Amino acid sequence: MLLCEVALPVPIAHAFTYSVPEGLALRAVAGARAVCPFRGRRLVGVILGVRDGEPPRGAKPLASVLEETPAVPADSLAFLRDLAAYYFAPIGEVMRLALPPIERETSRELAEPGLFDRARGVGVRNVQWVSATPVVEEAGSLRGQQAAILAHVRAVGAEPLAKVEGRWGNARPAVKKLAALGLVAIEERAALEEAFFSEPAVRDAPHDATAAQSAAIEAIAGALREGRAATFLVHGVTGSGKTEVYLRTIAAARERGVGSIVLVPEIALTPQLVARFRARFGDEVGVLHSGLTPRERLTMWRRLREGEVDVAVGARSALFAPVHKLGLVIVDEEHDPSFKQEEGVRYHARDMAIWRAHRAGGVCVLGSATPSLESEHLTRTGRAIKLRLPDRARSRPMPRVDLIDLRRTGVGPTGDRRISMPLFRAIEDALKAREQVILFLNRRGFAPGVRCQACGHLATCDSCAVALTFHKRAGAVVRCHFCDFEAPLGARCSKCQSDALELEGVGTEKLEETLSAAFPEARVARLDRDVASGRKVEAILERVRKREVDILVGTQMVTKGHDLPNVTLVGVINADAALSIPDFRASERAFQLLVQVAGRAGRGDVPGRVLVQTWDPEHPAVALAARHDVDAFLERELGDRRELGFPPLSRAALVRVDAVDEAEARDACMQLAEVARRCDASRAGDVVVQGPAPAPIARVRNRFRFRVMLRASARPALRGVLAAVDEARATLPRGVRSSIDVDPVQLL
Ligand code: ADP
Ligand code: ZN
Ligand code: ZN
Repeated sequence: MLLCEVALPVPIAHAFTYSVPEGLALRAVAGARAVCPFRGRRLVGVILGVRDGEPPRGAKPLASVLEETPAVPADSLAFLRDLAAYYFAPIGEVMRLALPPIERETSRELAEPGLFDRARGVGVRNVQWVSATPVVEEAGSLRGQQAAILAHVRAVGAEPLAKVEGRWGNARPAVKKLAALGLVAIEERAALEEAFFSEPAVRDAPHDATAAQSAAIEAIAGALREGRAATFLVHGVTGSGKTEVYLRTIAAARERGVGSIVLVPEIALTPQLVARFRARFGDEVGVLHSGLTPRERLTMWRRLREGEVDVAVGARSALFAPVHKLGLVIVDEEHDPSFKQEEGVRYHARDMAIWRAHRAGGVCVLGSATPSLESEHLTRTGRAIKLRLPDRARSRPMPRVDLIDLRRTGVGPTGDRRISMPLFRAIEDALKAREQVILFLNRRGFAPGVRCQACGHLATCDSCAVALTFHKRAGAVVRCHFCDFEAPLGARCSKCQSDALELEGVGTEKLEETLSAAFPEARVARLDRDVASGRKVEAILERVRKREVDILVGTQMVTKGHDLPNVTLVGVINADAALSIPDFRASERAFQLLVQVAGRAGRGDVPGRVLVQTWDPEHPAVALAARHDVDAFLERELGDRRELGFPPLSRAALVRVDAVDEAEARDACMQLAEVARRCDASRAGDVVVQGPAPAPIARVRNRFRFRVMLRASARPALRGVLAAVDEARATLPRGVRSSIDVDPVQLL
């Protein structure tokens, strides 16, 4: 009897066995999606393999197979299985990462055979948009829905018809009516461009590569030519022209007929990078971003799959793009923590990029001005080749960095000690010279604390063990940044009823207000999660680029790879903030942020200047960042990690447990720690088991959180213990949630 193993989208680690009815024998192949009866429901799973054998008791037959061409090609299938095993993640959930996004459509459609095959024929190149016209309607002539739709379209300017329909249900007749009245226009726009690109791609000619760029390009192209599964770390200072190296190696890959994937930290923060890709390759590059509709995604997915488009650019999840004949995977800003997925399948896109490239017999290129210690370690152990771009491409000097010792400087002219006198003067000078300023403060909101002056109580969230942040612009509310809690700022202390409440600390919102007051002539803008998501980020960056903004204030969003030639001054409000996080990577993270934000200054004709305010100017992360001395920092930090036995000089995993009841969570975590200790003792005793301990943020959304940290000098020892822990998780009480995080990044 023909049997198959199927990965189902359920949080169960293993695959399920089904029998294959005769009529489906030809279609049921590895990688194809099948509709499977499962506990009274019908689920769509991915066939992992087919074999002959005796069906196990209760094995059911497949209901149908959805497509003729397997949705997941064979090489991806092997990669995904390995990924699932590596992260102890349920195979069904891992498969979902690689599937075309049809799943979000209705289950009726899902159960219909041939959907994917049909989608292949859908040339969704055009999408209907509704836009407002300058025509003014006669008062009272419109009915409820029509009036509402018109008001909405006028507010947003233009929107895909499908979106309007999504908002109002059956909106088409109303839109047609509005169009007949000339109040809106319905027009076709190219589907793949509309969501992201305001202008069509303009082709550009490559620069003449610098000597360092040429050497890097030649090394990578050489590996591509020889079909060597190599990994490169392009360590180039900010502005050294790493992008040009990427562009040329992609061109080299295309010449050899192989496809490329480019991973970037956050697509909304990198419109310039995307624009440069489009300028070089035009429509032959597929950009994957959250603004795409499922249909557009599916179309892009199909075009990549069929090799019509051979370059995919996107954030973390683009790792799974079905690029045809993959030969090159590039990870730009490889040090960025956003490459780690922190929910569901906790994979690290940088680490998996190396796997995916090599499995396809291709080359992986990691690029950064501030390499992660993991990547640096790879080069030192001979598993990656370092390529250096030591100078800025257009022979601009690196900006001068001055440290401002907050212990020695008093309150500046604004009355706020967070803007010291030297920083104030430097801002003044930059504004006078009509140059732009970036100020970095890694704290959003107006004030990160509200404290009672009578009893000292700091207002905290009811459900989480964190202080509430005061947000002024959003209506004078306090918010928890870990759950959705929001409430008006009360007049009295919740503990002693005193009305002596005072705001503590400063966030970007307050900084923006202070600056606007101190420099009334200046146009101040803010970039953080509160003002900006998706396209709004682009719009703000666009205003800065057009020099409609003089001072840009923001969180780490301002440190990303922006190339803004008129920015000559970068100010860091508090360099120490990132250092106080209870995490062995705090130093590394602080260093990276400082070097990256400093790299935004002086990229144009006028040399740049960076002022870093700090309480601890001797701290190595601060002092070495001020000298742009990345090598010395890497050397030192690697030494510290070796001494303490932390990654990348050891292998780590975090076992997380949470429950509503504190004792229950602690006990469950204790149980898992015991399993780990016992298992390790029965083996070589190579694994250090730390915990259980409360998480640094001990309670979130009313659940108490505990964890066990496991470390080992070699991976196999750690894996053995993790396997035992994984098995023991199944025996925990029902209300307890647990997860295994292999190579953890976020320790909060
Ligand atoms: P990075 O990504 O390393 O920070 P970019 O790729 O943004 O650097 O390059 C910085 C600037 O230098 C860009 O404006 C880019 O157009 C320019 N550039 C890159 N390579 C060259 C080159 N070979 N000659 C002249 N300008 C270059
Ligand atoms: Zn009080
Ligand atoms: Zn909360």
